[in-house]
Amino acid sequence: MTWSLNNIQEHESRHVLQTYARQPVVFVRGVGSRLYDTDGREYLDFISGIGVTSLGHAHPGLTAVIADQAATLLHTSNLYYHPYQAEAAMLLAQFSGLSRTFFCNSGTEAVEACLKFARRYWYTQGATERIGFVALEGSFSGRTMGALSVTHSENYREPFGPLIGPVTFVDPHKPDDLTAAVTDTTAAIIAEPILGEGGIRPLSPKFAAAINGACERTGALYIADEVQSGLGRTGYPFYAPALGLRPDLTSVGKALGGGIPVGAALVSERVAKMVSPGDHGSTYGGNPLSARAAAFVLDQLKNGLLDRVNTVSVHFERRLRTLALRYPSIVEVRGVGLMRGLQLNIDSTRVVNAAREHGLLVNRTDERVVRMLPALTVEATDIDDAVDILDNVLAAAASETAP
Ligand code: PLP
Repeated sequence: MTWSLNNIQEHESRHVLQTYARQPVVFVRGVGSRLYDTDGREYLDFISGIGVTSLGHAHPGLTAVIADQAATLLHTSNLYYHPYQAEAAMLLAQFSGLSRTFFCNSGTEAVEACLKFARRYWYTQGATERIGFVALEGSFSGRTMGALSVTHSENYREPFGPLIGPVTFVDPHKPDDLTAAVTDTTAAIIAEPILGEGGIRPLSPKFAAAINGACERTGALYIADEVQSGLGRTGYPFYAPALGLRPDLTSVGKALGGGIPVGAALVSERVAKMVSPGDHGSTYGGNPLSARAAAFVLDQLKNGLLDRVNTVSVHFERRLRTLALRYPSIVEVRGVGLMRGLQLNIDSTRVVNAAREHGLLVNRTDERVVRMLPALTVEATDIDDAVDILDNVLAAAASETAP
């Protein structure tokens, strides 16, 4: 059968559970920061599968290790050893300062594991009343029941109650509210250092200080949800420490496997001491294929990729700020490194759709934010091309709304 957009849409509408609102394009291959559709049309990929394809598409080194591993050994389960979990975990410990890793398959599972380990930390010490979580308004931590419980949007949560509790949500602009919410029944505070789905909003240093203060005062643990902001996206290995935060647990996913599904909960030694064999597990988590892909991505980060992100990010930010000076529809340029959001005062869906028609893939978060998460290997020339397309799209939007 030859697949076209129309017949794929028709088959999906009958046989695929309708949980996604897909954009009308079928991609068949990619290279670097470019994707190609069924008509051979080229697109600049500035969303990278929502921050996943960290090394770009069809990276020769990653392709080679995946192919080699697939031809050698795909899966044995966590009943046995293989060499690559230790390799990836060692690199994660070097980057995060958190000595131990639990491997899973996605961001939501990484958050789930962090929530469980936080409760286990207190349970092991007999503090069975310390079960509460404090999370942030605007947070998104995933779709499984635990992660959903610490995700703020009522649209996501409401149909699935009762969720786990107690969870208190606080406004990330109000450090005093955080201080008041954290008590000696709080197991952990969970916060993305940059709210990703919540509109690319970094926490303020004052709010970060309030998290540290609340943890010191009550002993509550801090879980950094770095599924989106972690692993080089901001130019730092992790962004929470860059804000002065000291996580006891960190969730990672997305960029970790460069496109191979893998997530991880990074755990401090003092939390790890309270976790016992059998407390948590996963059939697939960290199998030879995903752990080897993760080890490869981490090795790239260690050997020059972070420096590259930092160099290219300066150019990206400069180009976005210049664009903002030209268009009053851009209210704010937010984010760090290669995690960027343009806060608009016009409908961002229109901008996203027009950009795609001009060959640029970005997406919408929040109501009026255009989000950009290019591959960490993005070239300065790709950035120039992307910003030029945004320039055309915003100029057209401005002329449509001009009196
Ligand atoms: N945490 C954060 C900060 C995220 O941005 C996401 C996904 O967007 C998740 C958790 C959930 O990750 P996944 O979709 O891989 O389950």
